[in-house]
Amino acid sequence: MPQAPHVFHDPALLRTEIRKAQADGKRVGLVPTMGALHQGHLSLVAESQKSCDLTVVTIFVNPTQFAPGEDFAKYPRTLEADLKLLSEFDPVWVLVPEVDAMYPPGSTTEVKAPEIALPLEGTFRPIHFDGVATIVLKLFQVAPADAAFFGQKDYQQVRVIEEMVRDLIVPIEIVRCPIIRESDGLAMSSRNRYLSSEEREIALSISRSLHDAVQQIVGGETDAQLLRDRIEHALREAGFREIDYVSIASPHTLESVETIEGDVVILVAAKVGTTRLIDNVLVSFPVSS
Ligand code: AMP
Repeated sequence: MPQAPHVFHDPALLRTEIRKAQADGKRVGLVPTMGALHQGHLSLVAESQKSCDLTVVTIFVNPTQFAPGEDFAKYPRTLEADLKLLSEFDPVWVLVPEVDAMYPPGSTTEVKAPEIALPLEGTFRPIHFDGVATIVLKLFQVAPADAAFFGQKDYQQVRVIEEMVRDLIVPIEIVRCPIIRESDGLAMSSRNRYLSSEEREIALSISRSLHDAVQQIVGGETDAQLLRDRIEHALREAGFREIDYVSIASPHTLESVETIEGDVVILVAAKVGTTRLIDNVLVSFPVSS
């Protein structure tokens, strides 16, 4: 019988309970989210459950990672449905804090994200990763888990967190989890629910063009510029008007490469209607389809 998950609103109480669980020898996993949960989020919970005795999911739409004009106000908030989805997992604790609990009135301290935050998303969303790094560090304080699970869907984000944890010597293991896609290839995202059916069809060209690029690399193509041009062309043909970037880069530094000779990550960000979508694929050598 599914159990309603235990919900905490008070971060201090959650921390006390996590400490008690750890004192009892339990390994604790943390899955930070902004809610509007889908199978991508749930895959992180499932991954945590493989190696942890207790999983803590946080649901918090973090205001500081949205710039004015972005979708903070209209970001989907579906707590009841989220808790229902989480009830399939046991034992899961859920933290749903108020903004004041995460940003005590008067607070002015923030984390400056590492340099890996500067290209790609950083060019188009300059304050985004400072906001992400700040809230994730705070979540690590209130939920001092042994491991934290992040999706490769937000590739640059997980690199930012990995570097922050290294730089600030945060005692937590960061686990990267694969991208979960719809059956037609569209990467799952809370923002997909904004898409009309025509926009969704256009959106599909992202995963298709990434898949095609991988096939070309498998076939021996090494010219990164050629592949970038082909992806961009496919996106425009499908109906994308605003493409923020198509990058073929080192998975470690995110610096753009010219010749594909070793592992790369191909990253795309583009807007359809008012919805901004991101996706990526890691290509590890030796490549195979
Ligand atoms: P969000 O709620 O969008 O902040 O995402 C919370 C976590 O879920 C992040 O670590 C995301 O990378 C991860 N995530 C979001 N979508 C997916 C997906 N399609 N597959 C795997 N992980 C995902």
